[in-house]
Amino acid sequence: KEKEEIILVTGGAGFIGSNFIEYYLAIYPDSRIINLDLLTYAGNLENLRVVEEHPKYTFIKGDICNRDLVSKIFKDFKINAVINFAAESHVDNSIHDPEVFIRTNVNGTFNLLDIAYKSWMEEPFRYKKEFEGSRFHQISTDEVYGSLGETGLFTETTPYAPNSPYSASKASADMLVRSYHHTYGLDTLITNCSNNYGPKQHDEKLIPTIIRKALSGEKIPIYGDGKNVRDWLFVQDHCRAINLAFKKGLSGEVYNVGGDGEKNNIGIANIICEHLDAKKPKTSGSYKEQIEFVKDRPGHDRRYAIDASKIKTELGWKPEEDFETGIEKTLKWYLTNFK
Ligand code: NAD
Repeated sequence: KEKEEIILVTGGAGFIGSNFIEYYLAIYPDSRIINLDLLTYAGNLENLRVVEEHPKYTFIKGDICNRDLVSKIFKDFKINAVINFAAESHVDNSIHDPEVFIRTNVNGTFNLLDIAYKSWMEEPFRYKKEFEGSRFHQISTDEVYGSLGETGLFTETTPYAPNSPYSASKASADMLVRSYHHTYGLDTLITNCSNNYGPKQHDEKLIPTIIRKALSGEKIPIYGDGKNVRDWLFVQDHCRAINLAFKKGLSGEVYNVGGDGEKNNIGIANIICEHLDAKKPKTSGSYKEQIEFVKDRPGHDRRYAIDASKIKTELGWKPEEDFETGIEKTLKWYLTNFK
């Protein structure tokens, strides 16, 4: 009989984690998922409605920095894989209050790594039999690579050059993951992805903000000149990439995940307004009239773009949604779920 997969998913009440848990249990109903989430302002158990009754799903409210709690979870559930989504994830917040970013993103990742290592491996540097193949998957961001000019793409070998406290904390966490692989032989994997969008994203992020402000008749704020470019990845495509990398990626490797969807912020706002104009017309004019340029974010990176050819050629992944189809699905969800 094959060993049961018992995955500690952290931050699973957030945007990507909750989409991932729903996706994963739908394709692997026999895998067990323990979701550890502190339920900060960004966590929402509503995101997990579909899985809350699933017999293989368990939710635990708690902090990834809590050593006793995490050790107990490893022991009680015999955790044999970790996928670490838990993080403070909003760049703007990291500018105003960086400390919690260091705590959760750096210390929290360290805590998980260290407990995984101690739980799974015995001295000197070998896996305990029952934990052979146990893997630590870190969910990271393309922001660790810094900012690009008009051209060029981030690859897995682009040197790290984080510019915000958020990206610096994520870069630090990636370095710790790397060190646990190289020093202790822990089976680790890092995926660095671009900006996700889709159902269940927190209101504070760009796309939900544009939709919400448009529908409520408020000004739609766009930073600076609106020309900052990001690659946009539909969350479901990201979940497929995580699954592939988690199952088939090579130990110690890094995979970049991008949606082949470079867009600048004003372009995003225009597309969303056009879709809304077609779906939910205003009595007069276009939602575009609500767009307003506001003072830029300090240190705002100009452009991120991802070369995802490694995960495409080595693991056979590719995004299924382009921005037009992905935003249709996203808007459909928001129009039904907006309170
Ligand atoms: P999110 O902010 O929506 O969710 C984060 C979750 O982590 C929340 O449920 C929160 O309650 C939980 N959490 C925070 N601190 C915790 C702690 N100390 N202990 C336990 N749980 C804690 O974030 P998201 O957008 O879903 O991002 C998930 C991961 O993906 C993050 O690691 C983020 O850095 C990374 N990422 C996100 C994007 C994106 O576009 N959203 C892009 C690249 C990488």
